Amino acid sequence: MMWWGKVGKWFNQIVSIASGGKLLDEDWEEIEALLIQADFGVELVDEIMIALRDAMKSQEDIKSALRSVMLSKFLPDEGRKLHLSTGRLKVLFLGVNGTGKTTTVAKLAHYFKEKGKSVVLVAADTFRAAAIEQLAEWGSWLSVPVIRQMPGSDAGAVVYDGVASFKARGYDIMLVDTAGRMHTKHNLMEEVGKINKILVNQLPDVPQENLLVADSTIGQNSYNQAMLFKEKVGLNGIVLTKMDGTSKGGVVLRIEKELGVPVKFIGTGERVEDLEEFSPEVFIDRILG
Ligand code: GDP
Repeated sequence: MMWWGKVGKWFNQIVSIASGGKLLDEDWEEIEALLIQADFGVELVDEIMIALRDAMKSQEDIKSALRSVMLSKFLPDEGRKLHLSTGRLKVLFLGVNGTGKTTTVAKLAHYFKEKGKSVVLVAADTFRAAAIEQLAEWGSWLSVPVIRQMPGSDAGAVVYDGVASFKARGYDIMLVDTAGRMHTKHNLMEEVGKINKILVNQLPDVPQENLLVADSTIGQNSYNQAMLFKEKVGLNGIVLTKMDGTSKGGVVLRIEKELGVPVKFIGTGERVEDLEEFSPEVFIDRILG
């Protein structure tokens, strides 16, 4: 089964409830419970329920009702595209450890290489030796240079090295991996703020994307941390990983709504190819079958 077959299972259950004709209170309760389980979040579930009740009153088909209400909740598509107008781009990856950040850096490197771009990776998660090693391994697997220093060194210094290399060698794309958690003494938000400033100030003419990498099984704590990243450095997009896992899909809409930032890519597996540009229409059509 393709990943979206699993993701959209709740929807088939809603359809079979709705196919029984006039819906009783307990049917509506069941539909509401399914939407909650699908991880839309309470606020969106309320909005979807209202729209569904209206649709059923006017005898609209439940599938088209759900399709149009979901589509209307996504952010406009203009903001979803990467800023590739100049042909060059720097990307700052932000996110908690374990969400798939390093893997996503590798996936984006592969994505840009496929488009014929030259790519350089910057290992600015200097806090974890394993993170530097992991990025270096992806780099050699993808034949992409990795700018790195010893574990424990200053992340800002590594980013300066990355900038220098990007300028000197004229790369098209620079992808910067960052720490997801720090020593208590060292403040993560201060560090990403510093890295962001270096990128903005040293390469003012190169468009920049600050991408949040979030696990699609994201919990409330992750939303809180995401808001901190948003306040500190600003976010242009979200990469939602592990859509092939236990995700029920509703999280895509929920995270866009709660953070006010578009989902630009979804991760659908562990291989470098398992990355898709996110399109609300394609996504909805797949999970609604
Ligand atoms: P980081 O700590 O955020 O840098 O996370 P990693 O990149 O090391 O990834 C953590 C784990 O998640 C690894 O086992 C990855 O293979 C796995 N992973 C990352 N993205 C995906 C995805 O889209 N789907 C699946 N199934 N696994 C993923």
